[in-house]
Amino acid sequence: MGGTVSRRAFVATGVSAGAAVAGVGAFAGSAARAAASGEAAGGALPPAPRAAGRPMPELERPLADSPERRLGWAVVGLGDFALNHMLPALGRTRHCRLTAVVSGNAEKARAVAAAYGVPASGVYSYDDFDRIRDDRTVDVVYVVLPNALHAAWTERAARAGKHVFCEKPMAVTEAECRRMIDACARAGRRLMIAYRAPFEPHNAEAIRMLRAGEAGAIREIVADHGRPLDPEKPADRWRAEAALAGGGSLYDIGIYSLNGARYLTGEDPVEVRATYRKPPGSPGPGGRPIDVEQGIAWTMRFPGGAVAHCTSGYDFQNVKRIQVMAERASLALDPATEYEGNRLIVTRERGREEPKLGESSLQFVGELDEFASAIRENREPRRGTGPEGLHDVRIMQRIYEAARTGRPVEVPPAR
Ligand code: NAD
Repeated sequence: MGGTVSRRAFVATGVSAGAAVAGVGAFAGSAARAAASGEAAGGALPPAPRAAGRPMPELERPLADSPERRLGWAVVGLGDFALNHMLPALGRTRHCRLTAVVSGNAEKARAVAAAYGVPASGVYSYDDFDRIRDDRTVDVVYVVLPNALHAAWTERAARAGKHVFCEKPMAVTEAECRRMIDACARAGRRLMIAYRAPFEPHNAEAIRMLRAGEAGAIREIVADHGRPLDPEKPADRWRAEAALAGGGSLYDIGIYSLNGARYLTGEDPVEVRATYRKPPGSPGPGGRPIDVEQGIAWTMRFPGGAVAHCTSGYDFQNVKRIQVMAERASLALDPATEYEGNRLIVTRERGREEPKLGESSLQFVGELDEFASAIRENREPRRGTGPEGLHDVRIMQRIYEAARTGRPVEVPPAR
């Protein structure tokens, strides 16, 4: 080997010698100048470090698809959630890309298309949407419209031969949900309801722990979701109107308590009881009556013996939490269903732990890529199937019935 020195040893020697003589900054500066001008500073200067290849690293996530291989998505409704969360998330997926936008506001549609590199041919209005049938760049239509429009737009997209990803709640009535499932089945296209929370790393870990039996039998669940409704805000205006929202805080955010209790127990409730705290017609923030219920509390009894106690409200500050009390551990997801910053705290006899898990915004990427994978692999999505969305609507309708009548209401099994 004679005078050869390994690259790593050489770099280390050079830095420490320089630092000892003149301080790291001064050495690095003069060495860089010397290297740049090709002259030797005070004698033979070692060659500068060069970029070097190394074997393929262990990938944390598989490589993303090339643009041509990704499934093309058309987003219908460029409102708050689509613009602020889902369009950015599409760009972080491995299997999806935005290829079309559909909006009632042509100027907004053109601006969003330009920002995301969607060509003019991918800009649609609600009126000319049906020509999307001939758009080979669009595989999936994503419906992000007010709840009462979900059914009609899912059917329209399926008729155009596209797979459909539809926001929660799936629709307003069970009959609408069935029409959506049938329309996609008739067209031979897949349907997924956009339940993001089970793809959120803290919720996913809670599901894993509970399924693995690490906490033992679930005894009780407490789940609360609420936020102040502001009917002056465009995104909240339709939420205060029964004709567009279909339901109140339960349909909008209480659904996270309901669906959460289902995915955490892995069971469907058999009976519900409920109380309206602020029934439909109660005054809203400005004193004007609001068509939909603002506050409701309900319990769900599960066949394995667990009971879930849930609330949802449009008139208190942000709460989005779910706590599972089980035989050997208590799992607190608080917050449970925020877009960012969810936490899981596990309490056992030996103490409390807070596992460090991935960032919560991966939930959006996870649900989008799951649907793309389901389409590619010709299978049902692992979460958010049509029947799952339908069953939530069926349960919510039973919760309203229980609140109206003051009596417990049985929930028929999912069909
Ligand atoms: P938003 O009001 O901000 O957006 C709705 C879009 O629909 C707007 O672009 C609006 O112009 C358009 N629209 C078309 N016809 C309309 C009509 N007749 N009335 C009102 N708007 C009409 O609402 P958003 O918060 O984006 O919610 C849209 C959907 O997404 C809802 O179903 C909601 O439940 C769902 N959502 C889901 C999440 C989630 O975390 N999964 C979060 C927020 C909203």
